[in-house]
Amino acid sequence: MTDKSGEAKRSQTPKGEVPISIGSVDRRGAIKLLGLGALGAVPLVASARVMDGLVRDIVKGSVAENQAADTVPTREAGRIRQWTMVIDLAKCDGCQSQGTPPQCTTACIEGHFAPQPMEWIEVYEAELNGGGSQFIPTPCQQCENPPCVKVCPVGATFPTPEGTVLIDQDRCIGCRICMAACPYDRRFFNWGTPPIPPEAALSDYNPDHQAPASSGTVMKCDFCPEMARDGTLPYCIQACPNDAVWYGDLEEDIATNGRTVVKATKLVSDNNGYRLKEHLGTMPRVFYLPGHGEDIGRDPHDEGRMPTEWPWIERAEGAVTWTR
Ligand code: SF4
Ligand code: SF4
Ligand code: SF4
Repeated sequence: MTDKSGEAKRSQTPKGEVPISIGSVDRRGAIKLLGLGALGAVPLVASARVMDGLVRDIVKGSVAENQAADTVPTREAGRIRQWTMVIDLAKCDGCQSQGTPPQCTTACIEGHFAPQPMEWIEVYEAELNGGGSQFIPTPCQQCENPPCVKVCPVGATFPTPEGTVLIDQDRCIGCRICMAACPYDRRFFNWGTPPIPPEAALSDYNPDHQAPASSGTVMKCDFCPEMARDGTLPYCIQACPNDAVWYGDLEEDIATNGRTVVKATKLVSDNNGYRLKEHLGTMPRVFYLPGHGEDIGRDPHDEGRMPTEWPWIERAEGAVTWTR
């Protein structure tokens, strides 16, 4: 976020970061550090292995067991990751300092081959009452009480035990009731034949990564469960030049932005974190840390979306552009 002078606000480290020193972290391996705090003195290599195994089992099981589920599963025996995201609005400057479209949006589009004009994580710009702009990245809020799931007549969208909401495009009948039910406008419809680049065309479809896209179905941010399985952070977090986005596990109360490991709940509480439209009772898994002068709990759709780009579009045959 920037003030009138264009300088980033609250550029210092947010409160809540705990003294878990990890030094310089390779972002592709950063997620392996989740769990380090809870595991205490367990060597890094060992904790990474534990993490990898847990994530692999969790995601594999969640897809198989919950494709037809119509209720949010409770935690069963054992330790189940509870994925969360924390977005620091004081650090996000909409990538204005880079002179580029929001890099989180572009990386997500590139990684998922999201058809144009889908922006699974859209960045909105809003004027602040005290002057200056605020930029608000908005992925699917991964609601713990998701209205989108409750209205799907065929169980094509379902919650997973680790707290995410996925869509199975093979089951989706394109009725778009879930889109109407989502209070965050976080679902997108394939109106036409989506352009598919060669890499996506060769992909085995799976609700975990939603590629290749298919016409007449709904898509959205999936929280990158495959990335977690492979021990990496979501595309959007890897791409953020300002370390504004954190990915974490509420089960172990830990989160990382790829540079630092923190206690997730402390990060949120020490910085007056909040969730969008909390009064609706949707219980999002995405938390926001406010910037200076922000009206808490504001609607992110007050102002315009930031422009973005679809880097792979020229590689796709039959590319089409349609309105949302
Ligand atoms: S943000 Fe919308 S699409 Fe995402 S889980 Fe919540 S209701 Fe469903
Ligand atoms: S978590 Fe994954 S799917 Fe969601 S916005 Fe980030 S990169 Fe896109
Ligand atoms: S990449 Fe980071 S700084 Fe840029 S818009 Fe996204 S969250 Fe904000």
